[in-house]
Order: sequence, then C-alpha cells, then structure tokens
Amino acid sequence: MDEFRAEVREFIAANLPDDVRDACMAGQYPTQEMLARWQRILADQGWSAPNWPVEYGGPDWSTRQVVAFADECESNFCPPLPNFGIGMIGPLLMTYGNQAQKDFFLEKTRTGEFQWCQGYSEPGAGSDLALLKTRAVLEDGHYVVNGAKIWTSEAHHADWMFCLVRTDPEAAKKQDGISMLLIDMTTPGITIRPIIGLNGIHYFNEIFFDDARVKAENLIGEQDNGWQYAKALLSDERFNQARTAICRGLLARLKRLAAATMCEGNPLIQQDYFRRKIGRAEVRIMALEAVKQGFVDANERGGRLGPEVSILKLTGSELLKDLDRLLMEAAGVAGLPYDPGWMQGRENARTDDIDAVGTLSGFRHRRKAATIAGGSSEVQRMIIAKRVLEL
Ligand SMILES: Cc1cc2nc3c(=O)[nH]c(=O)nc-3n(C[C@H](O)[C@H](O)[C@H](O)COP(=O)(O)OP(=O)(O)OC[C@H]3O[C@@H](n4cnc5c(N)ncnc54)[C@H](O)[C@@H]3O)c2cc1C
Repeated sequence: MDEFRAEVREFIAANLPDDVRDACMAGQYPTQEMLARWQRILADQGWSAPNWPVEYGGPDWSTRQVVAFADECESNFCPPLPNFGIGMIGPLLMTYGNQAQKDFFLEKTRTGEFQWCQGYSEPGAGSDLALLKTRAVLEDGHYVVNGAKIWTSEAHHADWMFCLVRTDPEAAKKQDGISMLLIDMTTPGITIRPIIGLNGIHYFNEIFFDDARVKAENLIGEQDNGWQYAKALLSDERFNQARTAICRGLLARLKRLAAATMCEGNPLIQQDYFRRKIGRAEVRIMALEAVKQGFVDANERGGRLGPEVSILKLTGSELLKDLDRLLMEAAGVAGLPYDPGWMQGRENARTDDIDAVGTLSGFRHRRKAATIAGGSSEVQRMIIAKRVLEL
C-alpha cells in the first residue's frame, strides 16, 4: 500500500494545478471551473471514479486503495470529486440501472460532463425521510412531478437530480410507494430558489416542481421500490464522512498553533488542560481510524455496509467539528475574522500559509453542518441503539 500511496502522491504533486491547490489549502470553495479541471485531469488518468470497476472506466481498485486514494487527495489539498455522481448515483446505476441508463449516464458522470444533485429532503421530511410527499403520477409515458425539495446542495450547478418521489400515496407503510427518478434539471416546471447560508454562501437550494414531466424511462429499478435504493446510497454517504486524513491534518495544525500561541507566559501546548484536550482528540482519531479500517477489511471480504456505518458517520462528523472548535479556541480572537467573498475565491485567494488563522473561521462555518448532513447525530444515535445494539 505504501507504493500505491507514493504513486498517488507523485501524481498529485505533478498534476494538481497550483491555483486549485492554493484555494483548497486556504479553505475556500473551489470554483466550478477548478472542480471540472481537476476531474478532467483525473479522468484522463483513469482515476476520476476511484470506486468504479474497469468496465465503466474506473481503476478497479480494492476498497483499501479507494480509501488510501481519498486520504492522499485530502492530505494534499485536492478538491473533492463530485460525490453525488461518482460516489452515489454511479454505483447505484451499476447495480439497479438498466443498460440504456448505464450507457447514457455513466461515462458522462465519470468525466464530469454530468453533475448531479440529491433530491431527498423536503420541508417536513428530513430526519424522517420516508414522510416525503413530492408526488409523481404516471401519465402517457411520463411521470408528472409536483412538490418541493429543500437543502439541495449544489443544485444550481447540477445537470441531473436523483430524486425520491411518492408514486403510491395509499401504500400501507410510509417507506413503500416511494420511487427514484432521474430528473433533468432543465425540465420545464422546475424552479430553483437559492438559500444563502449563515456563512453567506450559496450552496443550498429549494427546488419546486410544478407539473414537471419526467420520462418514464428515467425511473430507477422498480416503481414503489425507491426506499431500498435510497437506503443503499445513505450507507455509502455515511461511510465517506469518516474523514480521517482531514482529522489528522487538523490535529497537526492544532499542535503547531498551540505551540505558537502564548498563554500566561508559556506556549498553550504546555498548559495541562489544553494538552489533555489535544490528547483526547488524538485518541479519538486513532479510534476512528481503527474502526474505519475494520469496515474496510469487512468490505474487502465482500461484506455490505449495514446500519453500523452510522458509527463512522457519528464519530467522524463530531470529531471534525470538535477539532475545528479546538483550533478556534487556540487561535482566540485572531481566528474570528470571516469574509464570505474570500471563501468563494472572489478576492485574493492565494496563500501558501497553511497555518494562517484567518482561514479558521471559514473552515468552522463550513464543517459545522457535518453533524446534520447525511442524517443528524441524534438520528445516527437512534440507528445505532435500535438497529446495531438492538436496544
Ligand atoms: C451541509 C448539508 C448538506 C445537505 N445536502 C442535502 C442534499 O444535497 N440533498 C438533500 O436531500 N438533503 C440535504 N441536506 C439535508 C439533510 O439531509 C437534513 O438536514 C437532515 O436529514 C436533517 O433533516 P432536517 O433538516 O429536516 O431536520 P429535522 O429532521 O427537522 O430535525 C431537527 C432536529 O431534530 C432532531 N431530531 C429529528 N428526529 C429526531 C429523533 N427521532 N430523535 C431525536 N432527535 C431528532 C434532529 O437531530 C435535529 O437536531 C443537507 C444538510 C446539510 C446540513
């Protein structure tokens, strides 16, 4: 694995454009152009879909390699690959899509020509997703869709949405009667309304469907069976939130910052109370790495991700948030300034100073949401209690 990691690092050093690396290092949102450029570079190398089999243009890597690749990319300030397309809908199409869907969507998703968004949450259906109401009625070879989605990340940049809709409102269980449709975002009847976050960034959207007509051929798998597909995607989404490489990078940064910050005449890192906090964070990272490795090993042996993946999601996202909080604590008021324009790269973005405290507040604002996205911490605890521990 060391050899594999070295090969990835070498490729990144030679091919990641400086401006893209600088923006990522500075904690900015890379522009769409930057994301597309990096995806194209990886696609040319055959690495833009690390988790895909060779049949669909992937490198056919083992789970260990996929995880090692993600670690190296995160540690070396690469922009993320589009998770909705590469991590989620691509593999789902390989399993449940028909041949025409695979032919139409997979290659363009791999190269970045098609970008995706995820239409799950609705006003009134977030944690309890199965309450979703967006209605789709089959008429003359089209599903006529009416309803609304919310918190749809990056929908304003997406070409397609994988969307959960209710096709049978009479079904006995709320999980039944749900279907998954692939929806062209330019379909007449779709309105995208931006939601500007507290951090001043346009990342979320509300989506309204008013008699939007979606070709019946864009149904995934069987009608009314969408809950099964939705659940499979959620497991993958949760696995990816144990971002151990980022945690390691944050811990190293925390130690440097605490060593450079004076507190009552001594470096903060020499204060017992702060050393304990750093120590606790380090132990949590080691525990997360060990648990994650267990999942990787199980996956290599052919196991499927089950509800246990909530353990990774819960501990990984809480840890990220706590590390950001510790960094802010170490920086004190110097860490407070925040400029949304700079976060989006509108101003002079370039910095080679990975330790610049001016970036901390931006990171903190971005990652605070990690314990909500993909299912809140409370919900993960419920899943662990009920479905893993069977309490
Ligand atoms: C950064 C980010 C990106 C997102 N991107 C997308 C996206 O692209 N597509 C998409 O469809 N959705 C997206 N979401 C939405 C996300 O899935 C929901 O926010 C999440 O599932 C929680 O739902 P909610 O916001 O409706 O909160 P609610 O479900 O209303 O929950 C409110 C509070 O109640 C708590 N709560 C709820 N039920 C229980 C319970 N049974 N027991 C204990 N506590 C409970 C929750 O933990 C939370 O604190 C995103 C969210 C974030 C933060």
